[in-house]
Amino acid sequence: MKIYFKLFLISALTLLFAACSHSDDENLISSQKSIVILYENDVHCNIQGYQKLAGLRDAIANSDTAYAGIVSCGDYLNGGVVGAASKGQYIVDIMRNMCYDAITIGNHEFDFGLQRMKELLKNVNAPVVCANLFDYGETTPFFAPYVVVDYLQNTLGGVVGNEYAKPQGRIILVDD
Ligand SMILES: [Zn+2]
Repeated sequence: MKIYFKLFLISALTLLFAACSHSDDENLISSQKSIVILYENDVHCNIQGYQKLAGLRDAIANSDTAYAGIVSCGDYLNGGVVGAASKGQYIVDIMRNMCYDAITIGNHEFDFGLQRMKELLKNVNAPVVCANLFDYGETTPFFAPYVVVDYLQNTLGGVVGNEYAKPQGRIILVDD
């Protein structure tokens, strides 16, 4: 009986240590996870790419080695029949389901006019950032200059957007 008890005790302790070390391993893996930020730019209505990008993001996010985020760097509304036929609507309908962490704008987001761009991007289901785009006479940017994304409990990622501008680095929007 004494031997059985000792064996039970040894087994219990082994399991306890195994459980602790497993937990430590999990914590270690969790704290060592990388953050992978996927981006796209100049998609220009090449809609097949969205599915691939979302699949890649989800595959990384479901792994135990990395967290995954996704951002768009602009030039998506125009450049193909899909964009032209819907004045950007079909592209935004796709992008709305991509769950971007942040989106910024490129020069082609203005192709269907300023009002159209504002209207479309209101419904894109992601923060739109651009630090140097101002409505005429305004001193604060039209879009948020940046967004902070919480990928982990203790790790934050910041995303800043800028439209390319020369020479003063500031673009003034004038209603059309
Ligand atoms: Zn482009």
